[in-house]
Amino acid sequence: MEKIDCRSLLEAELSELCLSNGLSKFRGKQIFQWVQQKAIADWEEISNISQADKERISKFLSLRPATLIREQKSKDGTRKFLFELADGERIETVLMGYEKDKSRDRQTICVSTQVGCPVGCLFCATGMEGFKRNLTIGEITGQVLDVLRILKKENSEFRITNIVFMGMGEPLLNYDAVLKAISILNSHDGQNIGLRKMTVSTSGVVPKIIQLAKDSPQVGLAISLHSSRDEVRDKLIPINKKYPLASLMAACRTYTQLTNRRVTFEFALNNANTNRLEAQGLVKLLKGIMAHVNLIPVNPVQRSGVCRPTRGEMLMFKKILEDAKIAVSFREEKGLDIDAACGQLRQRLECEKA
Ligand code: SAH
Ligand code: SF4
Repeated sequence: MEKIDCRSLLEAELSELCLSNGLSKFRGKQIFQWVQQKAIADWEEISNISQADKERISKFLSLRPATLIREQKSKDGTRKFLFELADGERIETVLMGYEKDKSRDRQTICVSTQVGCPVGCLFCATGMEGFKRNLTIGEITGQVLDVLRILKKENSEFRITNIVFMGMGEPLLNYDAVLKAISILNSHDGQNIGLRKMTVSTSGVVPKIIQLAKDSPQVGLAISLHSSRDEVRDKLIPINKKYPLASLMAACRTYTQLTNRRVTFEFALNNANTNRLEAQGLVKLLKGIMAHVNLIPVNPVQRSGVCRPTRGEMLMFKKILEDAKIAVSFREEKGLDIDAACGQLRQRLECEKA
């Protein structure tokens, strides 16, 4: 019998499985709590289930934490983890805002949803590698659980408060797994992280934006916009050819109507998009949309040809948005000294291997 990954199941599903394997329904609840709340790495850590039952459980459920290959710590507290999965593929997970003595602070984890990414954005290290595979539900929730385990060893009070689906991969191209991982992480007997504390970031998979608004209207949405002009965006983010700006903005309008939430627009400022034309285009695009714009100086990636604009150009861009009464901020750059942008740690390791 093929074992099922226990990190991929909701409490009700675990209870059903326990019943059909001759165990009580209550065992399902207990297992869910141990796996999803206490983040155990081995059945032996369970203290309130008999040895005989643990053996039965291990016959139909697998529990396989990822292997930590490398961790990098930034001066600003950002920590980046490179994990190896069961099949040897590697993904990264970033934890932002960690401060040892402030256990109640906001702790945001940035999780990956795919190995590589099929979208292939020009400026993105993950995109340059091509696409390997989707992550499973258990590999998505697993990143939260594995990071939690590591941090709890340093501080038993540690809690993850926010999740952003902004690591490697395009979450809306692995929609079903991401949506289920969201439900598991939101579960009361698990991490109990509020849906409003989770944000899905997308390069613009239009049909799935609308589906997300219907399926999980409380989850936040961030759009990686990066240009207000189709001819530029086509080059930066190839999926724009399939879902051009007009369709993307229409989907964002629908999202705000269905959810009553504002959309975050990410704009990585670079040599191709930091000009007056782009800023004015952005003002037009956002007319009537509940929006917040995050300006991020692009993180230059090897071989991409994309580089940073000057500070003056960035300020000019911001002022045009402010003058149009658009909510805008420079996103705090986290972990720049440890390459904490999308896919960069992995790329560096690949380079080291070469
Ligand atoms: N695939 C999704 C989520 C993962 S990428 C998406 O594209 O939205 C997370 C964010 O990192 C995106 O906003 C992406 O545009 C941004 N990003 C990727 N490479 C970057 C770089 N070199 N500099 C700045 N931001 C980058
Ligand atoms: Fe994929 Fe996002 Fe990177 Fe684009 S920015 S290649 S969508 S991970």
